[in-house]
This record gives sequence, C-alpha cells and structure tokens, in this order.
Amino acid sequence: MKTAEEIVDQLLLLLESAGSYSYDGEAVSQLEHALQCAELARSAHSDGETVVASLLHDIGHLVEASRPHGELGVIDHAACGAQYLRELGFPAKVVDLVAAHVAAKRYLVAIDAAYAARLSPTSQRTLELQGGPMSAEEQAAFAADPLKIEKVRLRSWDESAKRPGHPCAGLASYRSLLLSVLG
Ligand code: FE
Repeated sequence: MKTAEEIVDQLLLLLESAGSYSYDGEAVSQLEHALQCAELARSAHSDGETVVASLLHDIGHLVEASRPHGELGVIDHAACGAQYLRELGFPAKVVDLVAAHVAAKRYLVAIDAAYAARLSPTSQRTLELQGGPMSAEEQAAFAADPLKIEKVRLRSWDESAKRPGHPCAGLASYRSLLLSVLG
C-alpha cells in the first residue's frame, strides 16, 4: 500500500513528464494546460477538491501514454483518468469532476451556441468522437446533477487553459493541497 506522499510523488512525476507532450494539437504542453486550468480554479476561490480535479482532469491522457496498449482509447480519457484517481484513493468529488469533463462539454455545446462557437478547432474535432452534443434526455440528467455548476466551471477553465507562454504557479505549489485532498 502506497503512502499519500508516494502517491503525490507519482502524480507530480507524471505531470512533470507531461511538459514534453503537446496538449492535443493545441499550442501548450499537457503540463502547461493542467497548471493553467488549476490556476483558473484557484483564482475563482474553488474548494481544494475542485482545484485538484482541475489540475488532474486530463491525467487519463498521461496514463494512456505510459501504457503501450491501453484498453481505453484517448476518447475515453475522462473515464480512464477517473478510474486511475479512484484507485489512488481520491475522494468521490474529484473522481466525479474528472469523469464528467467530457460530458460537460457535450452538455454545454447542446445548450449554449456561443460556447460551441468558442471551441478550439481540435476541441470541435474531438467532440464528434466523444458523442457530439447531448440529447434532451442526457441534458436533463446532467442539469439535475448536484455537481453541475462545478462541472460546467471546470469545463470553461479547461477551454481557457490553452494560452501559450502564460505564466502561472508551478507544480510544487500544489503538493500540500494534493496531500490534504488525498487525506
Ligand atoms: Fe483539458
């Protein structure tokens, strides 16, 4: 059984390595994207679990990259990341927010034409692979979710966290928060 310290070290290493991967055809690396997303959550005075979920929302891409023959494709990176974080012992809120970040995009595209128009070209391309806009039934289920507001916010930070060269706090500044959220 790993200690919380060991788990956080493992996560920080994985994120550190993401400095060399580009984020899905965007002009920032996976690491810059994660740090920018977490910083947006922090500056919106979100709770610790939401900040951690923002930092780790795309961890599924990195877990996949380290497994040559992952069972889940990149399309399922939200589910893959959520599963990974659940196994590490993160609380349900973090797991749920990470799991839902693709669903939140499908929800927002369905209800907000202005949001849909703002999606980057890459995000528009992956939308089709992710199932396209939500049906009316799916929208109703999503709207009734108690974490709906946080899920939608995380998605908007995700969309904004693509600014090349934008200065933000480094990974080390999340260490104690990760430890406290991991409990
Ligand atoms: Fe993302």
